[in-house]
Amino acid sequence: MMRVIGIDLGTTNSACGVWMADGVKLIPNSLGEFLTPSVVGVDAEGKVIVGQSAKERLLYHPDKTIAAFKRWMGSDYSIKLKDQNFTAIELSSLILRALKADAEAFLGETVSEAVISVPAYFNDNQRLATKQAAELAGLKVQRLINEPTAAAMAYGLHEKNDGTFLILDLGGGTFDVSLLEFFDGIMEVHASAGDNYLGGEDFVNAMIETVLNEHGVKREELVDNQLQQLYRQMEMAKRALGTQEQTLELELGSKSVEQKITLDWFARLATPLLVRIKQPIERALRDSKTERSAIDDVLLVGGSTRLAAFRSTIAKMFGRFPAANLDPDTVVASGAAIQAGLIMRDEALEDVVLTDVCPYTLGTGVVNEASPDQGNLFMPIIERNTTVPVSISRKVYNAYDNQDQLRIRVYQGEHRLVRKNVLLGELLVDVTPLPEGQEVVEIRYSYDMNGLLEVDATVQSTGKTYNKIIEHVPGTLTEETKQASLERLAKLKFHPREGEENRTLLARGERLYESSLGTRREYIAELMAYFEKALESQNAIEIAQARQQISRALDEIEGESLF
Ligand code: ADP
Ligand code: MG
Repeated sequence: MMRVIGIDLGTTNSACGVWMADGVKLIPNSLGEFLTPSVVGVDAEGKVIVGQSAKERLLYHPDKTIAAFKRWMGSDYSIKLKDQNFTAIELSSLILRALKADAEAFLGETVSEAVISVPAYFNDNQRLATKQAAELAGLKVQRLINEPTAAAMAYGLHEKNDGTFLILDLGGGTFDVSLLEFFDGIMEVHASAGDNYLGGEDFVNAMIETVLNEHGVKREELVDNQLQQLYRQMEMAKRALGTQEQTLELELGSKSVEQKITLDWFARLATPLLVRIKQPIERALRDSKTERSAIDDVLLVGGSTRLAAFRSTIAKMFGRFPAANLDPDTVVASGAAIQAGLIMRDEALEDVVLTDVCPYTLGTGVVNEASPDQGNLFMPIIERNTTVPVSISRKVYNAYDNQDQLRIRVYQGEHRLVRKNVLLGELLVDVTPLPEGQEVVEIRYSYDMNGLLEVDATVQSTGKTYNKIIEHVPGTLTEETKQASLERLAKLKFHPREGEENRTLLARGERLYESSLGTRREYIAELMAYFEKALESQNAIEIAQARQQISRALDEIEGESLF
């Protein structure tokens, strides 16, 4: 029988696994790692790169690299990568294609069927888009599984008789809370809530803010690549929290400073974020009318649940430690693989979603005073994951003196800049010419079960009301566009899978070179020249040895903090 693989197609990282006679086996990628960053790029040769090598290039080739496109599944948004536009479906298909190749290399056979996990709040369009991405990658989706259900299965909860489970998934940029009930062989998602602006990245940003504050340096005072460098140093420090007390050397503007990183220091700066963790949890409990005491298990999913500060917040909330004996960033892939195994034995678990939620954040644009050249800021009105039908209003003000008209643009998306979100429509509103900030327009968004968005705007000074209905059917592929996509993807060039370790090392060297100065930079250049020479030799053993040496040298450079 055809083997089915299980895939976690994540916003930050993806992973896959397969069911074997003795249980789930996670599948390593060409670098030997279980996590493949969900990043796609194009390199200098115009070839597509996927995963770690693309992620290494994210900072220095932002126009040729794309991350976090899962946020766009099921929408019409497309993004330019070098000279071509890609939709989220196409980008996802490139990730899936890489995972499929990894699985084939691992199993030594062709793989053409998969179980893929999706967030519980994904609507029909987003689910269809995920299936289509798989199709473009040459994978037939045997079944989609809700991410929290997959996590529960990895924990073996489907082997119990029944129960109520709370799944907390804190990933790179999102926090998802799901309340699951397992009864009579069916896993039901009873409530899903979340915060789509809360994840691992936000902790890193808070660390950066704190460091700058403590040393009295403004963001604008950072020069060259200092901000990127700081970001990486903080990301690494975050992951190493608790293992030992760290002292980092940081370059902030013209200053060189020492920064001590301790668990206490981190816990303090993380407090506002940890407070926000509680809200969606409480909402999910409220929505499903569940008492905390009725929850049989609390499960942790997602790389950021490794944070001790997060765990203790949850422990305090529930008066016990959550289940976290599985690797939080591969638990969804493991669950998908278990479901794949059940499908092969014809015993698939049924998994349903009962909540109807708004799949995207809907909002409007407001003036960006801090950095006008970035364009307007996105002001969310209805947050993604809100249970529908819903109606919410917020106020906006005239932006300058004597303004006589307000252009209310309606956007869908998760980015803080409107230009990175999808424009759904606009509404022109006449206002009374008044001093800046004195005219008030109340904007009300009402979103119903059928995906219809009604926008009302009431002008305070005149009492006049404007109205617009936006019927948005977000993008999935039609038969025609699917063919066109397939043709375009077929024309893309890829590197052979074998050289991936070398390419990743080169990309990493390039990144470190760009972020370093002076003698450090010269040293990196020497290392890379040495490696390129080894590559030219085309001698596999020599290349492998050089790769090992240079990886170690780069590890040292990154470990001892830069410059
Ligand atoms: P997603 O579901 O969004 O694809 P993941 O579950 O892979 O994301 O989580 C990625 C996040 O996990 C990143 O923000 C990363 O910084 C964070 N992370 C990974 N390892 C650790 C760690 N040891 N400590 C703290 N955060 C971690
Ligand atoms: Mg995830």
